[in-house]
Amino acid sequence: MIRLDTTPVKTLLSKSKIAGFDYAINPYVGCPHKCIYCYAEYMRKFSGHSEEWGEFLDVKQCDVPLKPSKLFRTRVMLSSVTDPYNPYEKEYGLTRNIIKQLVYCQAKVYILTKSALVVRDIDLFKQLYQCEVALSFSSADEGFRQAAEPGASPVADKINALKTLHGAGISTAVMVAPLFPGITDWKQIIALTKPYVNRYGFDSLNMRPAFHRKVMDFVEGHYPEALPLMGDIYIKQDSSYWTKLAKEITDYCHEQNVRADIFFGSFPSYSGE
Ligand code: SF4
Repeated sequence: MIRLDTTPVKTLLSKSKIAGFDYAINPYVGCPHKCIYCYAEYMRKFSGHSEEWGEFLDVKQCDVPLKPSKLFRTRVMLSSVTDPYNPYEKEYGLTRNIIKQLVYCQAKVYILTKSALVVRDIDLFKQLYQCEVALSFSSADEGFRQAAEPGASPVADKINALKTLHGAGISTAVMVAPLFPGITDWKQIIALTKPYVNRYGFDSLNMRPAFHRKVMDFVEGHYPEALPLMGDIYIKQDSSYWTKLAKEITDYCHEQNVRADIFFGSFPSYSGE
């Protein structure tokens, strides 16, 4: 049972700490997708919640509209510490309302989600000055999704969402992230999505103390064969795996003529022709 609250805020806009974006908009605090590796879990304490991550959701209420003079042609990300298309968005329509305003502001919008609900707003994406919609995958295995991302959309629904978005002329991306060492079959993710995707991004599993135990228990229970490698990387701090993987992904994407950006390791990324 999730705890739902509304929370008044003065602004929806935050300066982005993520390279390549001017602003981030997080319509909600919390995320019912409840991924076991969620980097945004720190928002739990920050927002004064004692519930577990995924078991509360604050719906932001803001009376101040987004300003076109401030956002004109800026790069805006939805979202950085929540999923803008969590299941409650169907009822609250907060993200939809924000995107309507971003159309008016002529902002360049990047959507990142694990939800097939995103297709609801195709009509608005078409009106944005610039728009890219990314769906993220750590695995194409539905068993992984059910155990590690229980509130997110099923894998097949996310692939269908990419197909629908692409068919509607929306620029699409897949974030293969976080990559789970020895578990994420990134070639399979590319194979299943390539016809509907303009570009890929890859990022590593950044193991934070807050979820280290939860993730290691998950690996032990579901993918015990990956435990030795995980131990090398996260306990012995051997980062050579990431350097090798970055090169492997770069070479493969080059061969397949797949546009890819790699956000880990020191290897340069390949962005296609
Ligand atoms: S969808 Fe994103 S924000 Fe939501 S729990 Fe998963 S990783 Fe966290």
